[in-house]
Amino acid sequence: MPVDWSRYPTSWKKVSLTIRRIAGNQCEWCGIANGAPLPSGRAGKVVLTVAHLGAPYADGTPGNCHDKHDIRRENLRALCQACHLRYDLPEHIENARRTRIAKKRAEAQSAGQLDLWGQPA
Ligand SMILES: [Zn+2]
Repeated sequence: MPVDWSRYPTSWKKVSLTIRRIAGNQCEWCGIANGAPLPSGRAGKVVLTVAHLGAPYADGTPGNCHDKHDIRRENLRALCQACHLRYDLPEHIENARRTRIAKKRAEAQSAGQLDLWGQPA
């Protein structure tokens, strides 16, 4: 799915670059360098991205990883593709589940069948 840049602050490119520079241009979790060959042996290189963790605020208010305007340092991590995907995996699984349910519902409706799939959570 393409990134919806309208959800990000206009300064995002600069913020992202700054976070990656602060991180020493390497993944803050596994340490692999930006541009290194993929450790899996597959073709391609490591590309650092910046993840929004949804870190809580100092006053205890929960953070929200979907708030792309939350550019607090404690909320952002420079991560390689593998670490970023691993962090976002539960969300990807949930989105895939919702997509499957919506698709089955649309198929059932177009076939004139009763909706047995329920509302997506
Ligand atoms: Zn990593």
